[in-house]
Amino acid sequence: MKPIKNIAVVAHDNCKHDLLEFVESNFEVLSHHHLTATGTTGGLVEKLFKERMAGMAGNRDLKPIRKLKSGPLGGDQQLGALISEGEVDVLIFFWDPMQPQPHDVDVKALLRLAVLYNIPTASNRSSAEFLISSPFFNGEFHKRGNDFADYLQRELK
Ligand code: PGA
Repeated sequence: MKPIKNIAVVAHDNCKHDLLEFVESNFEVLSHHHLTATGTTGGLVEKLFKERMAGMAGNRDLKPIRKLKSGPLGGDQQLGALISEGEVDVLIFFWDPMQPQPHDVDVKALLRLAVLYNIPTASNRSSAEFLISSPFFNGEFHKRGNDFADYLQRELK
């Protein structure tokens, strides 16, 4: 993984406030990476980024945030596909432990792919703070054990 990473951010509705607080307090770091988000989360993060930039002196270009479909409309599945294509380095996904979602199966599928592809994943504020404070977040990281050779070469009888 290169120092500038592809970071996916997603939050269920009851967790969006928490995610936005995290993004706000880590704006400086996050704004140097490429962000991808599910639709509604992405719109909120984009608004926050623009407000932060407007209040800053100087002229720094913001990287555009890639907005997928809203989660329940297929955004989680799009994100899963991006993971399988190697286009996501880090997943910050604040999923709601207190409320069933209409797209629970998609949420499960996304989390499964994140584990399968060995993607550093944060599911709450504390784990996100731990992740973003890691030297790997802004540095090189070599991901090991991810070629699925055993699976691909398995013998089927
Ligand atoms: P949203 O989707 O960002 O469009 O609200 C999040 C989700 O439910 O996965």
